Amino acid sequence: MANEFPFEISPMFEGERVRKDDMFVELAGPKSRGFELVRAAGLDEIEDGKFTLIGPDISGMQEGSRHPYAMIYRIAGKLVEADLEAIVERRNHDFQNYIQGYMHLNQRYDVWVRINKDAIKKGLKSFEQVAKATMMLFKNELPFIEKIEATYITDPEEVEKQRAEAIKIYEARDARTKGLHDEDVDVFYGCTLCQSFAPTNVCVVTPDRISLCGAINWFDGRAAAKVDPEGPQFAIPKGEIIDKVGGEYSGVNEKAVALSGGEYSRIKLHSFFEYPHTSCGCFEVVGFYIPEVDGIGWVDRDFSGTAPNGLAFSTMAGQTGGGKQIIGFLGVGVNYFRSPKFIQADGGWERVIWMPKNLREKIKADIPPELADKIPTEEDVTDLKTLRDYLEKKQHPITRRWVKEEAAAEAAPAESAAAAPAWSVPAMTMPAGMPMMPQFGGGEGVKLVFKNAKITIDRIVLKGKEKQS
Ligand code: SF4
Repeated sequence: MANEFPFEISPMFEGERVRKDDMFVELAGPKSRGFELVRAAGLDEIEDGKFTLIGPDISGMQEGSRHPYAMIYRIAGKLVEADLEAIVERRNHDFQNYIQGYMHLNQRYDVWVRINKDAIKKGLKSFEQVAKATMMLFKNELPFIEKIEATYITDPEEVEKQRAEAIKIYEARDARTKGLHDEDVDVFYGCTLCQSFAPTNVCVVTPDRISLCGAINWFDGRAAAKVDPEGPQFAIPKGEIIDKVGGEYSGVNEKAVALSGGEYSRIKLHSFFEYPHTSCGCFEVVGFYIPEVDGIGWVDRDFSGTAPNGLAFSTMAGQTGGGKQIIGFLGVGVNYFRSPKFIQADGGWERVIWMPKNLREKIKADIPPELADKIPTEEDVTDLKTLRDYLEKKQHPITRRWVKEEAAAEAAPAESAAAAPAWSVPAMTMPAGMPMMPQFGGGEGVKLVFKNAKITIDRIVLKGKEKQS
C-alpha cells in the first residue's frame, strides 16, 4: 500500500532532520504560524479518506519559502470519544516523521515542519500525498479509528482564523484538570512516545503535572491507556507516598527504573533540584537556575532573544533534553505554571525570577497577585546585573533568601573577602552519579560543567577578581 507514495514510510526516518540548506519549504514554525488539531465526530459525519486543502499546494510554492500551515483531522469509530482527541493528535508528530524527507517538530500551536529537496525530486508535489500517508498510518496504528478525513490549510488568513478556534479547544482541554489533584487519584499515567529520540525519557502525567510537551493531561493519559493498553501511554499505580511536597511515589520510582533501563531510580514530580522529572526535548518551556540570584528563570520556544544568563532557548534546550535528569534545567508544559504544586519543593512561584513577556502574558491570570509586577521580562532586564537590581528594587521574595545567605557568609569570616559580592549560592547536595551542568553566563565570565560527579556543597562564595596594580 505504501508504494503508492513517492517517498518511503518507516519509523527509521524518525529523528531525521531537515537542515536549512536541504530544505525545499518550511511550514509553520517559529517564524510563521500553524497548528494541528484532531476532533472526534460521528461515524456518519465523516467521509473516510477525504482530503481538503485550503491555500496553495506544495507544487505552487517557491524553493526556500515559508508558509503558515494547519493540519486538522476528524476521526470516528465506535470507541472514539472526545477524550481521545489529544492523544491521537500527539501521534501526528510520530506518523509524519515516518515520511522520508518530511520533518515534524513540536505540537499543538507550536508545530514546525520542513520538507527537503530530495523528497520533491522524488515526486512529492502535493499535501494530499502527505495527508493520505498520515491517515493511513493513523488507521493502521490506532485501530479504534474507523474513519478519518483531513483538512490542511496554507492560506494565511484561514490559518489565523482557525488557529484562534483551536487555541480555545486546547484551553478547554487543559481546564478539565483544574479541580483534580494528585492526591485525588490512585493512578498516574506514563508516556514513552519520545523514547525514539530520548531513550531514557519517561513522562509522568498527573492531575497536577501536564506532560512536558503540553499535549497530554491526566484525562488524555487515562483515555489512551484504556483504548490502547499496549500503546505508549500506560497506567502507573501511585504506590506509597515517599515525599509529599516533592511529589515522590514508590509506583512512579518503580516504573522509572523499569522504563529508563535503570538510568535513574527516583523522580520527584514537583522538584526542580532533587531527582527532577526527565526532559525529552518536546518541552514547551525550559526552566534554568540562575545561581547569581538563586532563582529560576523560564524561557519558551517562541522567545528568540537571550535570557539574562546570556543563553538562548535553543542553547538551554540542547542541555535540557535527551531524557536525562539535569539539575539546573527542567522542561515543562505551559500548563504546569497553573498547577498548585508548581515546583513546590523549591519555593514555587517565589523562586520565579524571569520569563519572556509573551510567556508572562499567556499565564498572567495564574501568577500569584503579590508577584504580578515583580517578575521581570526582556523589557525590564538584559543581564544578571540589571536582573539583580530589578529584583532588589521590587522586593521580590527571592531577596529574602539573599539576606539569609549574606548572614551565613558573614558568619564565616575566613571565606569572606572585602572584594566579594555580598551574595552566594545556597547549600545543595547532588545525588551520586547525577550529571550537573550549571551554566553561568550573561557576561559574568564563569562556566562550570560537572559530569557524573558526586559533589557535596555546603556553600559557594563568589568573589570579585582583584585588579593587578
Ligand atoms: S513529551 Fe512526554 S507526554 Fe509528550 S509525547 Fe513525549 S513522552 Fe509523551
